Amino acid sequence: MSLTITLTGTGGAQLVPVFGCSCAACHRARQNHTYRRQPCSAVVKFNDAVTLLDAGIPTLMDKFSPGDVQQFLLTHYHMDHVQGLFPLRWGVGDKIPVYGPPDEQGCDDLFKHPGLLDFSHTVAPFVVFELQGLQVTPLPLNHSKLTFGYFLESAHSRVAWLCDTAGLPDKTLKFLLNNRPQVVVIDCSYEPRAQTPKNHCDLSTVIALNEIIGCPRVILTHISHVFDQWMMKNPLPTGFEAGYDEMRIVLD
Ligand SMILES: [Zn+2]
Ligand SMILES: [Zn+2]
Ligand SMILES: [Zn+2]
Repeated sequence: MSLTITLTGTGGAQLVPVFGCSCAACHRARQNHTYRRQPCSAVVKFNDAVTLLDAGIPTLMDKFSPGDVQQFLLTHYHMDHVQGLFPLRWGVGDKIPVYGPPDEQGCDDLFKHPGLLDFSHTVAPFVVFELQGLQVTPLPLNHSKLTFGYFLESAHSRVAWLCDTAGLPDKTLKFLLNNRPQVVVIDCSYEPRAQTPKNHCDLSTVIALNEIIGCPRVILTHISHVFDQWMMKNPLPTGFEAGYDEMRIVLD
């Protein structure tokens, strides 16, 4: 049994480098492509089953063939998390199930013209479901659109994916405290701020949350160029790591 999560993107909607920006972080990302950040997303591989966790990479359909992917699992219907589905839906082949929150609007005309995507797999907060043997629990998050994080659990592994969110609702925090994830991947869009920003976490908020959760390995994602600039000058506390595109997280 093995669970591998590959971060296919660790940026926000703005990406890194930012169009027209010549800050140190954007300059570095143009010089060395390993510092670039694509839209926040992951490939979750459990044994032989592949789940694409969010679909914001515009060239998504060039990276997979029909049959390579068992399903999509979506956190929410903001463009930077679903835009790869727009051309892919017009493809040829079997239907691909899409799991996600019961957001009636979705994004643009995705629901009206789903093509080969099957959006009927809506999930509910704290109601566990299975993807080829991997247990998944939807966790409500704080965001400007209906958004779920996901707790992924196998016999020996527990990972929480928490993006996009500004802080965490009490119920979700309690769930994490009780279920002890070995790894947390969380929205940390910004450098430490005096107050939690509106729709995303800053580093101070993430540190405060983990004082309650107590996870030994916190991986930051949805990172902005401003936060990258901050990290070029400041170390992260022990137990916190900046995610990067193509980072692999391997569990049992
Ligand atoms: Zn986002
Ligand atoms: Zn910049
Ligand atoms: Zn969002």
